[in-house]
Amino acid sequence: MDSVITIPALGDNFIYLYRYNQNDSLAVDPGDGSLVLRTLQEHGLGLKMILITHHHWDHVAGTAELKQKTGCKVIGADRRSIPGIDSVVEDGQILPVGGGKIRVIATPGHTRTSVCYYMEPSPGDKNGILWTGDTLFAGGCGRLLECDAQAMTESLQRLASLPDDTLVYCGHDYTLENYEFASGIEPGNQVVKERLEQVRQLQKQGKTTVPSSILLERRTNCFLRAGTPGLKAALGMPQAKAVEVFAELRRRKDVF
Ligand SMILES: [Zn+2]
Repeated sequence: MDSVITIPALGDNFIYLYRYNQNDSLAVDPGDGSLVLRTLQEHGLGLKMILITHHHWDHVAGTAELKQKTGCKVIGADRRSIPGIDSVVEDGQILPVGGGKIRVIATPGHTRTSVCYYMEPSPGDKNGILWTGDTLFAGGCGRLLECDAQAMTESLQRLASLPDDTLVYCGHDYTLENYEFASGIEPGNQVVKERLEQVRQLQKQGKTTVPSSILLERRTNCFLRAGTPGLKAALGMPQAKAVEVFAELRRRKDVF
């Protein structure tokens, strides 16, 4: 029985349910309330809380309906912009869920108040689980809408320092496009090439490309590798700082 249920929604969003205590669940970024209600029913689950990574409509649009129908609590980091928010969290805060703990990690970059949620591995459970919203994508990262490259670089490095086997569940399915971009940047990178091929196969089989893992992202995500000699060379910026390389990558991806 998988504890995370992935719900593709709104074209390219991912909504997640996390099941605990047998029949309880929490939802992450429910952009479509009716779809989440149907999924809860299919799996026989009740909804206790909603975790919001950031305020964009495609991540919050279902909260009002879900709150009204289930009485769940809405948790996020932006009191002004998240509709129906009950509890405002900050960096480092621990949320007890079932027998486990979810840690809030502040990750400004895509928005000023973006956060990620990290379910710490419990004894006997080998993987931690990370919900990244629009901060870290499989093979990519979010656009810089409210912050600069420095802030996003620091946020991504915080995520990259989590344990290798942490499962990464991101907010959008941009995976194929991200690796097409990455393999254009570094055509000689064999690891990126293999990942692109794997993503193509998964999509051909109608499978989702999540979860990824922190190890896989550290190896293949060009935005996490901005400080490496290989990427600097690929961009013709051998002397540049990681944040400058990151900014150049982000600029190129914005028009890809
Ligand atoms: Zn967003």
